[in-house]
Amino acid sequence: MPELPEVESVRRSLVPWIVGARVLGVNVRRGDVITHGQLRRRSAGARDDRGAQAITPSDLLVGTTIVQLVRRGKQLLLGADSGRGIVIHLGMSGQVRIAAEMPTPPGQHTHVLWSLETRVGACTMLFDDPRRFGGVILVDDWARIEAGAWRGLGPDALTATGAALAEGIRGQRRAIKVALLDQSVLAGVGNIYADEACCRAGVDPRTPCVRFTDAGCELLAKHIREVLAEAIALGGSTVGTYADAQGRAGSFSDRHAVYGRAGQECLTCGRVLRSAVVAGRTTVWCQACQGRARARG
Ligand SMILES: [Zn+2]
Repeated sequence: MPELPEVESVRRSLVPWIVGARVLGVNVRRGDVITHGQLRRRSAGARDDRGAQAITPSDLLVGTTIVQLVRRGKQLLLGADSGRGIVIHLGMSGQVRIAAEMPTPPGQHTHVLWSLETRVGACTMLFDDPRRFGGVILVDDWARIEAGAWRGLGPDALTATGAALAEGIRGQRRAIKVALLDQSVLAGVGNIYADEACCRAGVDPRTPCVRFTDAGCELLAKHIREVLAEAIALGGSTVGTYADAQGRAGSFSDRHAVYGRAGQECLTCGRVLRSAVVAGRTTVWCQACQGRARARG
């Protein structure tokens, strides 16, 4: 599942193509991947369910120029000069790709295709998602996204401070791993980088949040920022099918210290790494190197 470093790698690979590009047309092959991010004025009693037929080309930015491509956590916002925008989230298996030509026929899992006119010629941006946990969210006013589609997201994990982490987990009895996966605490961390950051910080991922002091939060936040930045520098982690918009895999997967290594030796002490299901996700740590005491910083 793409996390912050993978989505940031997609963003960076898209910028040269789509920022400044004019949207000439759109081809929606599966309307159910598209949802409205903001409530619209509607008649009393009407359901907020406009269905695929109600989506217009201008909702998907046709006739506008894309002027912004920003990321918050694991989501991308494409903002147009009209004020409208779209948020793309990749879910488990989503991909945004750039192709020089409109593929005919499109792939089985290609749900939306945009034809773009860029400074260097025409191209197509495609949204693919075999498992369809990702999607496209329509945004009426991208300048107000923080009060709209992104209102539930915590601070971006790439720049998260210890104070923000401390604020997000204060008084909670749940395990720190559970809190790190909660996008309202920090936006962008998923299973891979939660385990890798806990490993670097020497923290047992099952440690209750209430055990963390301000110093413990500072230490963990520092390791979260560092592991995310290192992963971005290597194009993210390719686990499964992830690739950036130009089809390049990420190589941070070769650097994983614990994720995906249950039963193998700890790279630091050589003991066998333990695993358990925490927050419904397989969680891997070293019993010797990662303790609950490190929550005190
Ligand atoms: Zn160890």
